[in-house]
Amino acid sequence: MKLTRRDFIKGSLVAGSSLLLPPFSLAVPKKEEPWISAYEKLEKERKLAQRVKQAYAMFENCQLCPRRCGVNRKKGEKGFCRAPMKLVIFSASPHFGEELSLVGQNGSGTIFFSNCNLRCIFCQNWPISHEGRGKECQDEELAEMMLKLQNIGCHNINLVTPTHVMPNILNATRIAYSKGLHIPLVYNTSGYECLEILKILDGIVDIYMPDMKYMDSDKAAKYSAGASDYPEVTKKAIIEMNRQVGELQIDKKGIAFRGVIIRHLVMPNRVAGTEKFVKWVAEALPKSTYVNIMPQYRVEYKAYEYPEIARGITVQEFLEAMDWAKKYGLTNLDPNSVAVRDFYRHRRSE
Ligand code: SF4
Repeated sequence: MKLTRRDFIKGSLVAGSSLLLPPFSLAVPKKEEPWISAYEKLEKERKLAQRVKQAYAMFENCQLCPRRCGVNRKKGEKGFCRAPMKLVIFSASPHFGEELSLVGQNGSGTIFFSNCNLRCIFCQNWPISHEGRGKECQDEELAEMMLKLQNIGCHNINLVTPTHVMPNILNATRIAYSKGLHIPLVYNTSGYECLEILKILDGIVDIYMPDMKYMDSDKAAKYSAGASDYPEVTKKAIIEMNRQVGELQIDKKGIAFRGVIIRHLVMPNRVAGTEKFVKWVAEALPKSTYVNIMPQYRVEYKAYEYPEIARGITVQEFLEAMDWAKKYGLTNLDPNSVAVRDFYRHRRSE
């Protein structure tokens, strides 16, 4: 049977709205009952308060990310990310555009934090991350947002760009836990993380969702504000994340509750180093690591000033990326990306 463009779009819309059955192609270890969140375990061991204290102390000489500005955010100084010590939040709502195992039936409870420590010139969220648009909030208000998202049925708390406000997030999580928060925390990060910060998060975060944006330091420096150490730092960070939470685990309803999801955005002209990326995953991590090779690059913010990335990707560029993943033996690719690949392959064979 021929798969028409209309069939494909219809299928994609159903997938995007999360009205579908649990993703069938994922490895499905059954969730053992009763499941409790990582932060609940840590609080029961009476260790969470100490972690909050340890994290908050870092504001005095901010080393929360590899930029290591050393500014005193408690005194109002600002570093590279331009973030104050107080939280600035752009939005908190159910999100249906994330990976299917995060979205489920009711959405991923997504909280967008303003400002960013990486500041890529092609950022799709630039009004939030570059311009810092949002509203200042107390940690208690963040805790209330988490609880509201849980109460409306979201399957997780999805913390977008959390690195520079990690202490506030830990404090808010502890407050929200005392009022009944019990769903997984998703740490949705650029991947540009310090190992010592990840150690503070060990036993608090249930799901890590890092990007791996580039494999070459010159590209990282060029497109992410001089962060030439991004590839090496992020590789180490992802290995540590995998050590903490392991491969992605999904319950019998298709909802993720623990593990690592790595995102890699395919860029025009092989800028993202996709072949090196999948080779690295295959060599450094289990081949069944969940990897989302994403086709949705678009020209945003200042990308139009760089001719090599001033266009979307071609079908060929996406297909070669997926072929490399197969060549190096990755076995747990995001089902939406696989569907897009299959659609274009099928169309080419017509
Ligand atoms: S979180 Fe911000 S202030 Fe702190 S080290 Fe990173 S960029 Fe600098």
